[in-house]
Amino acid sequence: MKVLNVNLGRTFKTAIRSFASESKYPNGMSFALNDTQKEFQDLARKFVREEIIPVAAEHDRTGKFPWEIVKKAHALGLMNSHVPQQYGGLGMGVFDGCLVAEELAYGCTGIMTAIEASGLGQTPVLIAGNDAQKKKYLGRLIEEPILAAYCVTEPGAGSDVNGVKTRAEKKGDEYIINGQKMWITNGGVANWYFLLARTHPDPKAPASKAFTGFIVERDTPGLTPGRKEINMGQKASDTRGITFEDVRVPKENVLIEEGAGFKIAMETFDKTRPPVAAGAVGLAQRALDEATKYSLERKTFGLPIAAHQAVAFMLADMAIAVETARLAWQRSAWEVDQGRRNTLQASIAKAYAADIANKCATDAVQIFGGNGFNSEYPVEKLMRDAKIYQIYEGTAQIQRLIISRAILDLAKQKN
Ligand SMILES: Cc1cc2nc3c(=O)[nH]c(=O)nc-3n(C[C@H](O)[C@H](O)[C@H](O)COP(=O)(O)OP(=O)(O)OC[C@H]3O[C@@H](n4cnc5c(N)ncnc54)[C@H](O)[C@@H]3O)c2cc1C
Repeated sequence: MKVLNVNLGRTFKTAIRSFASESKYPNGMSFALNDTQKEFQDLARKFVREEIIPVAAEHDRTGKFPWEIVKKAHALGLMNSHVPQQYGGLGMGVFDGCLVAEELAYGCTGIMTAIEASGLGQTPVLIAGNDAQKKKYLGRLIEEPILAAYCVTEPGAGSDVNGVKTRAEKKGDEYIINGQKMWITNGGVANWYFLLARTHPDPKAPASKAFTGFIVERDTPGLTPGRKEINMGQKASDTRGITFEDVRVPKENVLIEEGAGFKIAMETFDKTRPPVAAGAVGLAQRALDEATKYSLERKTFGLPIAAHQAVAFMLADMAIAVETARLAWQRSAWEVDQGRRNTLQASIAKAYAADIANKCATDAVQIFGGNGFNSEYPVEKLMRDAKIYQIYEGTAQIQRLIISRAILDLAKQKN
């Protein structure tokens, strides 16, 4: 294996090309991780054990943004792994990023979301940016422990992205942007944003022509993040509305061209839903581990509760869910790393992992009994944190819309 030394605070060994799995049998299937992936996963696991788990409850209680953890993760190369090598990154695949995402989520999905949402903000630039944009904006994220954000949702447009009303009007070499965004993860802490705005003058223009994607610097005059939202869970993550009032953006910051924004915003999810699914699996695995440990310690009727079949079977169902959801994110990430369209697999993975994360967290609370309902124990946080997986990056219903459309289209093609 060809090895490259990339200096990211430490010398990290990485393969020139990353593989979803490395097989000795090129014609068959392999579930094995290659050496680089194992090293990367071990590094993330150690980081989570030492840096995240000890402080997760405190961040959950205070809602303090985890800058210290971001800085350390950045120094270790646990962020931005997908940035191509010519812009200073590791050039790793979606699969590799998912391995890290699952580990980080095991420690705290609020902290994981703060890190992962930066990947979400970067992906439009990764897939649609020109060389100068990538050099400037992705390169900046490698140089410093700073974050990006993905700025699409509005108070009146979430699932229905076509309802986005924020407008960008061309005046000379600039665009003047006015509008209101909502629920933007990293909204108050990002250094730059991917922004989707309407540029077509005809309000009835199709989505494929109506919108443009921009890169917008945080310190542009007229751009004002609102207060940090008080959410049910993932409290370490920073979610805000953002107001744009006559925000001037140079035309150099348009991604591809006017009208290309909707496609860029949607294609982004093919690369970012697998890590969201991996995050949900990390949470589910944590719920299973916490519940298993507790079930061996807690006794009722003279026996550890694990000896009661009803409890043991709940653990078995959790294990089935974790294992199958992990396979789902692995498949969806592997597909996109092979350069193939993975929209269907990404939606299956995201929908399924989100659902099982909620089921596993709820069952973990059940296994903890009264203690499970109390913040002194780790599982009530898991239950609160899990819910958002069924909402952000496309709700549970929207994933099913995508999945059902894909299978119906396929069936029609066969007829
Ligand atoms: C904590 C948090 C972080 C977020 N981070 C970001 C971010 O970083 N960037 C960003 O741009 N956005 C972000 N979002 C927004 C998120 O993606 C949206 O909230 C989500 O897409 C749902 O949109 P909505 O809230 O407007 O709900 P709505 O679209 O109003 O949906 C309400 C309900 O109706 C259902 N529904 C809607 N349409 C249909 C349909 N056609 N068929 C069946 N059911 C339907 C939905 O599934 C849902 O159950 C975030 C949201 C939260 C809460």
